[in-house]
Amino acid sequence: MIRVDDALAAVLERVHPSAPVHVPLLEAVGLALTEEVLSDVDSPPHDKAMVDGYAMIAADLQEPHADLVVLEEITAGVVPTQTVRRGTATRIMTGAPIPNGADVVVMVEHTQFLESSGGQPTVRVSDQLNAGANIMRQGTAMRRGEQVLASGHVIRPIDIGVLGEVGTSAVPVHPQPAVAILATGNELVSVDKTPGPGQIRNSNGPMLAAQVARAGGRPRELGIARDEQDELARMVSEGLQAQVLLLSGGVSAGLLDLVPGVLASLGVEQVFHKVHLKPGKPLWFGTLRSEGGDKLVFGLPGNPVSSLVCFELFVRPALARLGGREADRSRCAALLAADHDLRGDRPTYYPARLTQTDGVAQAKPLNWKGSADLRTLADANCLICYPAGNHQFHAGDPVELLML
Ligand code: AMP
Ligand code: MG
Repeated sequence: MIRVDDALAAVLERVHPSAPVHVPLLEAVGLALTEEVLSDVDSPPHDKAMVDGYAMIAADLQEPHADLVVLEEITAGVVPTQTVRRGTATRIMTGAPIPNGADVVVMVEHTQFLESSGGQPTVRVSDQLNAGANIMRQGTAMRRGEQVLASGHVIRPIDIGVLGEVGTSAVPVHPQPAVAILATGNELVSVDKTPGPGQIRNSNGPMLAAQVARAGGRPRELGIARDEQDELARMVSEGLQAQVLLLSGGVSAGLLDLVPGVLASLGVEQVFHKVHLKPGKPLWFGTLRSEGGDKLVFGLPGNPVSSLVCFELFVRPALARLGGREADRSRCAALLAADHDLRGDRPTYYPARLTQTDGVAQAKPLNWKGSADLRTLADANCLICYPAGNHQFHAGDPVELLML
């Protein structure tokens, strides 16, 4: 049985970032850039007014008030036509280009418009500002040709704004990997059905699809395959069209655990089967040679919590790497909130609830009934990573957590 760290290393060494594509701006959130992005503009593109008011020459503001002849009105998007000279001012709106000659903008609130003096519109200004006040100079936020985002950067909504500002409407990124999901089991019915005798709903299919979406993949649920050689082979073949195939169930030691055999018959090479881990021991992983990069196949255990944990430990990091992102395992430290006795020969990932009490991170182990008990996970927000062996842990002991 392979150790968790060795299993993860074995997975990641077979995963390479997908070839770059260009996607529309709005589809780029969460994806990693494959090239640096340079600005094609100065920002702001011109010296611009930062307030609504009057553009003028600061030297005219020596006296308690000054009466200045108004030359023209410049709204945003309009270009000034007149040069401001001593004794004159231009009405200007936020964002509009500063007229030649002007070196300050006085807020409209600090001015008074006088209908006319000698037939000319005039403004009375009572403010004393230094040259440059209320003006943002061209290129002070960014220069044309400057790098605004580095290659590898993972795009956030903020970056969508920046990319928009520099005119990147098609963004070079590693695409979301396509992930097929196939649940196996004669006992399964879809979630919209009422289970008959001996049946349960296929909760893993939709859960895995949601995990895939959260982890930056593009999920496609293939439904349920019966534990029957031909049907399984047909549906697995369909799943192998995707870059990643997640199978649920059929990888333990039961009579109808046919998945490893079917995968072998379809040319998928086993990398490992069974991991020194609880829950999740039956995990199977292999690859299929393919022109566009090897396909990854995870045979996840059928028990829902095992499936969930294996996804978090192995599939999520693999999807991150396919997307050119760092495998973020969101580990953190906390103190145990209660005594906890644990027996077992494998490292255990135990559902718990992390809270901050008086600034201290405390993890309370939940009353979990084992790998088939998904209900308790609804109350969990993390897994405590316990070492193998029989241990009596005490409240206040430091523990490592894997956040959910
Ligand atoms: P298996 O790994 O196929 O032996 O399944 C182990 C346990 O997980 C069995 O009790 C199954 O009923 C249960 N199980 C298998 N597949 C699913 C699924 N898709 N959703 C919920 N439970 C499942
Ligand atoms: Mg089964």
